[in-house]
Amino acid sequence: MMMEEITAAFPAIEILRNEPLAHYTHTKTGGPADYLAFPTNVQETKSLLAYANQENLPVTVVGNASNLIVRDGGIRGLVMILTKMANITVTDNTVTAESGAAMIKTTQVAQAHALTGTEFAAGIPGSVGGAVFMNAGAYGGEISEVVTSAEVLTPEGEIRTLNAQELDFGYRHSSVQDYHDIILTATFTLEPGDGAAIQATMDDLNARRAAKQPLDLPSCGSVFKRPTGHYTGQLIQEAGLQGLKWGGAQVSTKHAGFIVNIDHATATDYLELIHHIQEVIWKEDQVHLETEVRIIGEEPK
Ligand SMILES: Cc1cc2nc3c(=O)[nH]c(=O)nc-3n(C[C@H](O)[C@H](O)[C@H](O)COP(=O)(O)OP(=O)(O)OC[C@H]3O[C@@H](n4cnc5c(N)ncnc54)[C@H](O)[C@@H]3O)c2cc1C
Repeated sequence: MMMEEITAAFPAIEILRNEPLAHYTHTKTGGPADYLAFPTNVQETKSLLAYANQENLPVTVVGNASNLIVRDGGIRGLVMILTKMANITVTDNTVTAESGAAMIKTTQVAQAHALTGTEFAAGIPGSVGGAVFMNAGAYGGEISEVVTSAEVLTPEGEIRTLNAQELDFGYRHSSVQDYHDIILTATFTLEPGDGAAIQATMDDLNARRAAKQPLDLPSCGSVFKRPTGHYTGQLIQEAGLQGLKWGGAQVSTKHAGFIVNIDHATATDYLELIHHIQEVIWKEDQVHLETEVRIIGEEPK
């Protein structure tokens, strides 16, 4: 019933029904979305939100699903994957990217314009929206240092521009997490640099990443935030948990802070293994490992 209405209302937008989110998440796990839409521009995103609000459908926004565990029961209501809304424009020293643009692509565009500042993110496999939402960071750099504003859609459907202060960046935190805004675009303010030197830095960081991270297997990156005064990977190794298998999930033998999907893991395998690690580390070290990965959706019935 609702499906006819939603597709009739938006014949130009791809909308799938009961679509397994495992097809989209980096861990290759996760239950179905009732409705999964792929808006291609700001107007479509805005219209879908207005429709969902009117129909009382809960709305969930997903970027590249590289920092996400969707529980095996899936997500009720409307899920929007924004990766088809991905324009990037450059004016002088600023790069403005729609939130679905790949962060990696954005760093390549900056390099092509000899703009320096985003090199740290050359290998972060998320979207611009996900990177701003998470204040993603690597190798000493962080989104907070380069994003000077973001255009968001409030839950009520209003478009607002937030400056860096309003984005309230902290360690893997932005105000968007607190207010449930949908990020539409982000503006990066960069410095002129040398294209070849920028490329060399990006290549170096990507080589370091490939040497340390299990990039050949599905994962969601670092599962836990860095606890003050400790290294997560080291705590997990010292507790003897590296290599531990749980269903089809395994604590990566290459990087103990990652959990890889080695054999048709479910989201439940991931969540049970995360819980087990938290319990062991709490018992052994009295350190609470807080998840960096975002966990959403319903328990399986
Ligand atoms: C191999 C690997 C390496 C990684 N390395 C790093 C790293 O070095 N540094 C780092 O910080 N992270 C890293 N990550 C994690 C991840 O790539 C980042 O957190 C990334 O910024 C998430 O972006 P995403 O588009 O995939 O977000 P998603 O996983 O799709 O979503 C994450 C959260 O952001 C929200 N969100 C996404 N888009 C929007 C939007 N437009 N508006 C509002 N909310 C939105 C979602 O609702 C969700 O809560 C890595 C992940 C992997 C798999």
